[in-house]
Amino acid sequence: MSNKYVMANFKMNKTDAEVEEYLNTFLPLVENINAKIILGVPFTSLKTAVTKTQNSNVMIAAQNMNENEKGAYTGEVSADMLKNLGVDAVIVGHSERRSNYNETDELVNKKILRGLKSGLICIFCVGETMYERKNQMTEQVLVRQITEGLKSVYANELKNIIVAYEPVWAIGTGVTPMDVEIVETVKVIRNILTSMYDEEISKEVVVTYGGSINEINCKEIGKFEGLDGALIGGASLMPEKFAKIINAFKPKATRKKA
Ligand code: PEP
Repeated sequence: MSNKYVMANFKMNKTDAEVEEYLNTFLPLVENINAKIILGVPFTSLKTAVTKTQNSNVMIAAQNMNENEKGAYTGEVSADMLKNLGVDAVIVGHSERRSNYNETDELVNKKILRGLKSGLICIFCVGETMYERKNQMTEQVLVRQITEGLKSVYANELKNIIVAYEPVWAIGTGVTPMDVEIVETVKVIRNILTSMYDEEISKEVVVTYGGSINEINCKEIGKFEGLDGALIGGASLMPEKFAKIINAFKPKATRKKA
């Protein structure tokens, strides 16, 4: 089985009926693709998505959850509720939540600890803004986000963490970093993980890239060294497009010697 993860973030798009229709088209397109696929659908479609993807190679993620176990938090959804529904993963620390809902590194950390405790894979988003990049602050920002976000996470829990490097300026803008910038930043992320854990452990952590991936640039991005997959927003909303992107991340067949 491939260890490449290709993940979708539908954001606040698609009614439940639309998610069902999407899956009717999508599942046959990807049933033979050797990649780990995770779809981040709205809360309202989690049940439908979990039911329809049973016995398939597709896992389902929520796009957010509350950091508390349970209680008087009107309108919120807990990690246990997600797990009980059959949800596999949760997106935590997405830049839209950090900027629109003031989610801090401390809150992201609480959500990660809660998600891990409930047995959810945490898709942990990190990345710098354009201002931070222009001011050579990328590494400093990533050090802060990763050390704070993974505080008190044990090495043996990292198998349930996917670090999604998503430069904020590349999300939904049609602009992507240069190839070398992605590869270099993934190295920076692994170095941070090495200083928190050790090199062997750091190599094993799944690190992906997200930000304006489409069915054209995925061909290059899919080949990047050290990159374990991708998180896709806009281009994941059309099943045919998303299936093409997933194909770019599957392992290449090795040619037999004559
Ligand atoms: C995202 O929001 O996580 C994302 C990667 O979006 P897009 O692909 O649209 O840039």
